[in-house]
Amino acid sequence: SLGSSSEHIVMLPMMAQGHLIPFLALARKIHQRTGFNITIASTPLNIQYLRSTFYKDSTPATECSGIHLAELIPFGRIVDQSKLPIPDRNAENLPLDQMEELFSLTISLQAPFHRLLSDIKEKEGRPPLCTISDIFMGWAVEVAKSVGTINITFTTTGAYGGLAYFSLWLNLPHLRADSEELTIPGLPDRCRFHISQFHKFVRMADGSDPCSRFLQPQISQTFQSFGYLCHTAEEVEPLALEWLRNYIKLPIWAIGPLLPPVMLNKSPYSGSSMSKHRAGKQPGISLERCIEWLDLHCPDSVLYVSFGSQNTISPSQMMELAKGLEESRNPFIWVIRPPFGFDMKGEFKAEWLPEGFEERMSESKQGLLVRKWAPQVETLLHKSTGAFLSHCGWNSVLESLSQGVPIIGWPLVGEQPFNSKMLVEEMGVSVELTRGHDSTIEAKEAKKVIEMVMNKKGKGGEMRKKAVEIAEKIRAAVTEEGERKGSSITALDDFISAVLTKRFSE
Ligand code: UDP
Repeated sequence: SLGSSSEHIVMLPMMAQGHLIPFLALARKIHQRTGFNITIASTPLNIQYLRSTFYKDSTPATECSGIHLAELIPFGRIVDQSKLPIPDRNAENLPLDQMEELFSLTISLQAPFHRLLSDIKEKEGRPPLCTISDIFMGWAVEVAKSVGTINITFTTTGAYGGLAYFSLWLNLPHLRADSEELTIPGLPDRCRFHISQFHKFVRMADGSDPCSRFLQPQISQTFQSFGYLCHTAEEVEPLALEWLRNYIKLPIWAIGPLLPPVMLNKSPYSGSSMSKHRAGKQPGISLERCIEWLDLHCPDSVLYVSFGSQNTISPSQMMELAKGLEESRNPFIWVIRPPFGFDMKGEFKAEWLPEGFEERMSESKQGLLVRKWAPQVETLLHKSTGAFLSHCGWNSVLESLSQGVPIIGWPLVGEQPFNSKMLVEEMGVSVELTRGHDSTIEAKEAKKVIEMVMNKKGKGGEMRKKAVEIAEKIRAAVTEEGERKGSSITALDDFISAVLTKRFSE
C-alpha cells in the first residue's frame, strides 16, 4: 500500500454532470488504490445528484465506504435552492446572465470550502493530504494553502482540448478582424483554428466581459497548483501532453481514461450475456431492447448518433440529419431530444422529423429512435456498432475510442470543437460533418459522410484501423498484469507518492 488509510483527500468539481462523473470515478480509483478517505464537496443539488447517481457498475456512488459527500452552502447568502445550478446543464447553453450567476456562485463557495477544510483539520489533527479541484475553481489553490495543504488541478478534458481552451481564454484578445484563422499560444503553428470553432462567448470576449473576468483569473490561479491530473493517457495524447507540460510548467499526471471496467474487457459485447453495467437511473429505452435491436444487425454496421447529456442540434439540422440517415440506408441508433431552442426535457414532437420517419425506420428496422437517453456504454460495446456520430464530448470520445469505434464529429460547445480537430488531425480516427447548432447541413452531405465512414474500404477502413490501435493503447495504459503497470496506473501511483513525499518533507 502506498499510504495510510487515514489520509484524506478533498475534491471540488465544477457543478456540471460532465465534471461530476470523472471526479467521482477519480475518487473511486484513488480510494481503491490507496484506501484513502475521499470527500467530494459541492452545492446541495449537485450532492443530491451524486447521491442518486449509480456509478457505472451499479453501485450507488455513496455506497462505497471511504467516499463521502459534503454540502457547501454558499456563504453569507440567502440560498434559494431552486436558484442553485443544476448539474445537467452545460454552462455555455445558459443565457449570459445565468452564466454570470453561476460564476458568482462558484466564487462564493470559497468560504464554505475553507470551513470544510478547517473542520477536517480540527477533527483529524492535521489538514487533508491535498485538495483536487476543477480548472474553474482556481481559487482553491489559495484556500488549500491557507489551511496548510496543497491543491492539485484536475482537468476533466483531454490534454489537447484543455490546453486549447484555457490558452484561448488567457490570450485574449486574439480575434483579429482581418482573419478567420488563428493559432493558439501553446499549440504549434500547424494547428490553425477557425473562428467557427469558438463559442460566441469567446468571439464576443475582449477581457472585460463576464466570461473573461471569471475564467482568466481562475485558470491562471490553477498554474500555482502543485500539479495537474489530466483525464487522458500518455500513449493517447503524447504530443498534446508535451505541449501542455511546456505551457503550464507543472508536473502533469495522465491518469485516464477513467472508464467503466466493463469497457476494458478484451472481447466486444456480443449480447449473449447481459451486462450488469448501468449508467444510473435514466429515462429512455431499456437496455434489453437496445441490445436485441443491435443483435439483428451485422458486425460494425450500425451508426450510433448522440450529442451527449446536455446538447441538442437545431430543428432544421435535425430534419436534414434524419433525411441523410434514411437515404444512406445504413442502420442507426439515434438518441433524440427536442431540438435547440426548445425545452430539452419536454415532449418530443413528430413534426421535428420527416413525415412518417419513425414508423418507416421501425418497420424496416433501419433505425432505432431512442428518446432522451440511451445505454451508450453497452451500445458502444456491442459488436454491431461500427461508428459514432458524436458531439465529441470528452467522455464520449474516450468511450468510443476504447472500443475501437471511429467517429463522425459534430462538435457543439466548449472544448468539443478542439477535441474534434484533434481526432481528425492528430489521430485520424474521425471526420467532421459540421459544427455548432447554427450551421447549414444538407441531407446529401450527411449521407455522403455516413457512407464514407461506414464503408470498410478506403478512408472509413483506415479510421477504424486507427481507432482500434488507440483502443489497444488505452487498454495498455490502464492495465496491470503482474509486474507490468500501464502508464496511467504508474501516473496515479507517482501522483500519490509525490503528495505523500510533500507532506512528509515538511
Ligand atoms: N450518455 C449516455 N447516454 C446518452 C447520452 C450520454 O449514457 O444518451 C453518457 C455517455 O456515456 C457519457 C456521458 O453521458 O459518459 C456524456 O459525457 P460527454 O463528456 O461525452 O458529454 P457531455 O454530456 O458532458 O456533453
